[in-house]
Amino acid sequence: MTPEQLAAIENPGTAPPPMPPAAAKENKPVTQADLDAYLASIKDQVRGAIIFYGPHTQVPENFVPAPLRRPEETWSQPGGRGGRGGPAAAGARGGRGGAAAEGLTAAEILQHVNKFLLDNGALAKVTDAGEAYGTIRQQSTAGYNENPGNPNLPTLLMGNEDYGRIYRTSTIDHIPVVLKINIHNEFYPTGRTVYNVIGELPGTDKADEVVMAGGHFDSWNAATGATDNAAGGSVAVEALRLIHTLNLPHRRTIRVALWSGEEEGLYGSIAYVAQHFGSAENPKPEWFKLDAYLNLDDGTSKPRAASVFGPPQAAAMVETAMDNFKDWGFHSVNPTLGRATGGTDSTSFNNAGLPGVGFSQDPFDYNTFTHHTSYDTYERIYEPDMREAAVEEALTLYSLANADQMVPRCSAATMPPPPAPRAAAGRVAANVPVTPVAPLALPAGVTPPERPSPCTAAPPAQAAPVSWPGAGSTGQR
Ligand SMILES: [Zn+2]
Repeated sequence: MTPEQLAAIENPGTAPPPMPPAAAKENKPVTQADLDAYLASIKDQVRGAIIFYGPHTQVPENFVPAPLRRPEETWSQPGGRGGRGGPAAAGARGGRGGAAAEGLTAAEILQHVNKFLLDNGALAKVTDAGEAYGTIRQQSTAGYNENPGNPNLPTLLMGNEDYGRIYRTSTIDHIPVVLKINIHNEFYPTGRTVYNVIGELPGTDKADEVVMAGGHFDSWNAATGATDNAAGGSVAVEALRLIHTLNLPHRRTIRVALWSGEEEGLYGSIAYVAQHFGSAENPKPEWFKLDAYLNLDDGTSKPRAASVFGPPQAAAMVETAMDNFKDWGFHSVNPTLGRATGGTDSTSFNNAGLPGVGFSQDPFDYNTFTHHTSYDTYERIYEPDMREAAVEEALTLYSLANADQMVPRCSAATMPPPPAPRAAAGRVAANVPVTPVAPLALPAGVTPPERPSPCTAAPPAQAAPVSWPGAGSTGQR
C-alpha cells in the first residue's frame, strides 16, 4: 500500500467514495470507447477513495420460495431423473456469465476497471453481494493480489442492504459516507499443497477389489462449508463407521476418500484417479479392481436418485441396492455415458471410464442460501436426512462389496471416447490434469477380471444381493 493510501486511511474524511454508475450493469452493450470515456470522466475522483462498483442491486421479492424437497412427480419426469454427475447435472452447472452480443463482456469491463483503479490510486473496491438478507455468496470476485504480474486492489463484497443504504445516502441525500476498513488476512506462500484423506476397511476373499465412497472436504471461503461438502464427507465416514461398528462382513475392501482441491477444479480426485487407476485407454492394474465410487455433494438432503457411469446394467445393480430405500424417498438410478469432468468428484471417475455414482439430492436451501455463502455452517445441516444418507450409503457399499461380481462396465469396444481436453473457464480450468488418451493396452502381467456384460449385453443374471447378516454372524471375515 502506498504512503498516500495509508494517509487516506488514517484521515478517512478526506476520501469520500465516489459513486459512479455501473457501466457493467447497463443493459445496452458497453464498447471500449464508452468505457474509456466514462473512466476518463471519473479519473480525478478515484485517488485515495474506496470505490463502490455500480449501483446497488434491487433484489426482487420472492413470492414463490423454493421448496425444500423436490416434488415427488418431478423425480420420475423425463429430464428430472438424472443423478449428480450425469448429463443433466452437467448442463445445470453451466451458463454463468456469457458474452454480450456486441461490446465488452462483464469480465472484460471488470478487468479494465480493476487496472484503472490500481493505476489511479484507489484504496479498495466494494461490490454489492446482490442477494437478500445479508447473504454473502462469494463466487469468483478476484481479491487483493500482491503478485506484481497480476495485482489487484483489496476487494470486498458487501451485504445488499448495507450497500444499498450507503448508495442511497451518498447519491440521493448527497451525504458523504466514510468507511473504515480493517482487513486482516494471512498469506501462506508455502502452503500450496492440498491432501486427500483416505481410510479403508480391508475386505476378505476379494480384498484386492475396492468399493469407494467420499466427498470433498475443502470448502469455499465465505463459511466453513457444512453443506458443501462436509455433508458428503461425513456421510461417507459415518457409513464406514456403521459397517465397522456393526462388524458387517464384506468381501471387497471398502474405502472412503475425502478429497481436497475440489472447488478449484477437482484436483484431489483427478490426481488420485490418475495415480491409482489411470484411464480406460491407459489403465493401471488398480483400474480393473475399482468396483464403484459413490459421491454425495449437493447439500444436506438424503439421496433421492443417482447416476452411474456405464451400461444400464450398472445402474440396475446399484438400483437393486438402493431399492431398499424406496420408502425413504429414493427414486431411481440411471446410467450415464458422459465422461466430461465437472461439478463434482464422481466425474473424475467417469472421466476414466470407471463406475462413478453421483447422488441427486433435494434442494433444501442449497442453491438459495447455503451454496458458497456466508451461511454454509453446521446450523444449516438437516440431521435426519444426513443420518438416512449414511445408512443408505453404508448398505450400498456393503451390498456392492459382497456381490459376486463387480458393477458392470462398458467393454473396450463400447466405452465412449474421452472428451477432448477443454480450455473452458470456470471451476474446471484448462490447467487441470487431463486423463491421457492412449490405445487400450494392459500392463504386462495384468489379466482383467471377467467383465459381466458390455454396454449392449443383457443384464447380469446376478444382481447385488442385499441382506443384512443374520444375528449369528460373527464379525468380519
Ligand atoms: Zn461441493
